Amino acid sequence: TLTAQNIHLAFGSNQVLRGIDLHVEKGTTASVIGPSGSGKSTLLRVMNRLIEPDQGDILLDGRSVLKDNPDELRRRIGMVFQQFNLFPHKTVVENVSLALWKLRGMSKDKAREEALGQLDLVGLKHKADVRPANLSGGQMQRVAIARALAMKPEVMFFDEATSALDPELVKGVLALMTDLAKGGMTMVVVTHEMGFSRNVSDTVTFMDAGVVVESGPPEQLFTDPRTDRLKGFLSDVL
Ligand code: ATP
Ligand code: MG
Repeated sequence: TLTAQNIHLAFGSNQVLRGIDLHVEKGTTASVIGPSGSGKSTLLRVMNRLIEPDQGDILLDGRSVLKDNPDELRRRIGMVFQQFNLFPHKTVVENVSLALWKLRGMSKDKAREEALGQLDLVGLKHKADVRPANLSGGQMQRVAIARALAMKPEVMFFDEATSALDPELVKGVLALMTDLAKGGMTMVVVTHEMGFSRNVSDTVTFMDAGVVVESGPPEQLFTDPRTDRLKGFLSDVL
């Protein structure tokens, strides 16, 4: 269970997060939606401690993590970005295995074996020895997901994981994310894919201008939005 409590963060005079609460039960998927600039990516960065909040707390399994070494939390949370951030000069399997031997102290052989297993799960074992440039965007993103999963995270964060993909490639990545969600992974998914938010996630949080405007089960937010702000957002994106 991952909880963000009353998170405040400013960049200079720009109050980007103004008292955000987000609660993600173990084994569930929380989607976060909202207009550009509302603070979604910043919230994820605070929640895995790439940025320290000005105020508020982050709890994992009921325990505050803000006093721990930030690296420890980042080890427990896998992160997938819009830009895949693969190493261009390394092969696919090297991309997935690198952190396993470098950061986890696994032998290189064992790391490669683990990485191949993970690539098999995302349907890309046959691409193990090519370089990222030879993959489609959708395949690159599945490699990035395999790389995150190889670290055996307790929670996965996705920040617009499909936004940079050509439309025909979005489906495969969403299918993989759906499998993960159904398989019981705990996930926080920032997305513009309203279908995923509505049909796959367990809870939806709608952010605007650094606050949570509405949050609850998808049926409620998508069929019975209570605020004009969410109504307006949905009529723009649906
Ligand atoms: P999008 O849907 O476009 O990705 P978002 O909801 O993810 O938007 P954020 O990227 O979190 O929005 O940005 C929220 C606000 O914080 C914006 O006003 C942005 O300019 C500002 N911001 C984000 N990162 C920084 C930074 N490193 N330094 C200064 N301001 C920042
Ligand atoms: Mg963003």
